[in-house]
Amino acid sequence: MPHENKALPAIPLIANLLALTEEGLGQLVQQFEWPRYRTSQILRWLYQRRARTIAQMTDLSQKDRAQLAATATISRTEHCTVLTSTDGTRKLLLTLDDGLRIETVLIPDEERLTLCVSTQVGCMLDCGFCLTGTMGLKRNLKAHEIVDQVLTAQDHLTGEEGLTNLVFMGMGEPLANIDALSTAIRCLTNQSWGLGWSPRRITVSTAGLAARLKDVAALGVNLAISLNGTTEEQRQQLMPAVSQIASLKTLIAACRRYPLAPTRRLTFEYVLLAGVNDRNEDAHRLIKLLKGLRCKVNLIPFNEFQGNPFRRPTDRTVRTFQAILTQAGLDAFIRKSRGRDVLGACGQLGNLSSGDASPALTQIEPRC
Ligand code: SAH
Repeated sequence: MPHENKALPAIPLIANLLALTEEGLGQLVQQFEWPRYRTSQILRWLYQRRARTIAQMTDLSQKDRAQLAATATISRTEHCTVLTSTDGTRKLLLTLDDGLRIETVLIPDEERLTLCVSTQVGCMLDCGFCLTGTMGLKRNLKAHEIVDQVLTAQDHLTGEEGLTNLVFMGMGEPLANIDALSTAIRCLTNQSWGLGWSPRRITVSTAGLAARLKDVAALGVNLAISLNGTTEEQRQQLMPAVSQIASLKTLIAACRRYPLAPTRRLTFEYVLLAGVNDRNEDAHRLIKLLKGLRCKVNLIPFNEFQGNPFRRPTDRTVRTFQAILTQAGLDAFIRKSRGRDVLGACGQLGNLSSGDASPALTQIEPRC
């Protein structure tokens, strides 16, 4: 079919195989006049076997591997530093092609091993209580840079370990990078050549980009909303940028319209800030706001960081807040703060410019 090949768009001389979609790789395979099944064969090498070189693809003939290597490479994160917390949380610092760095955090908890994945370098929303926001937005991550965090984390697991949950709660606002996020999630959930993740074990968190909630529904993954305030004023004070994009009223209305599957529920995250949003009246307003929504609440006691004026409430205040919610029939959980000593806890990602210096660092392991 040589005349058909002419119609194909030109393939760049050196393509990163991980940056190609299934269709893109299919075109390359077609251009080489290889059988079609070769596309999924190569994809399986990339995602299921985490090949770092084309030479590793041993079920392709030497000749085919040479032909592929003349056109393409596999560009995985070259450098990764692991910071291990005293509680077992591991923060992975990955250096991207352009030298920028991102963080991804492995959080073991009883039976679970959760990976907290970044979607942007920095963040444009600059919520008042979040360290990532202070760096501003450097750029969106590409789909393969999002998937690479999962592959690299898997490379670092010991024999008995396996990831059980993926949460898009790392650096950045996932819904501000929805195209790359969607491509990455399709790759993670693809059963035939991808990583075979069940969408039920994946959660995407948003600071409140109300108009894009429906895009999360289309992916079939769980949705978490970082609420953090119960009045327009509180949200405007704590999360000014995202409040400009969607008011609290608009956000809650979008949650009420959300096409929630019968066995699922929404998660609302609520960072507790001492004296700001942790009072009894805040808890009562939260109950009212969420009335009739199938949901649970994750309470996150504020993780302090240098230069930030907010304070963490006492454990007693946190438990009282939780008790008010549960007494009203709302499921409320207190999120354990994990990895605080390596600045790997919620809202602590992104102090990359300070040379990653972290006072209570227990171990630094350059790897990859
Ligand atoms: N931008 C998305 C994804 C980041 S998730 C979002 O906002 O949902 C990070 C979670 O940690 C959010 O729920 C956020 O409200 C919370 N968070 C941010 N800074 C924090 C801090 N210093 N302490 C505790 N939680 C924080």
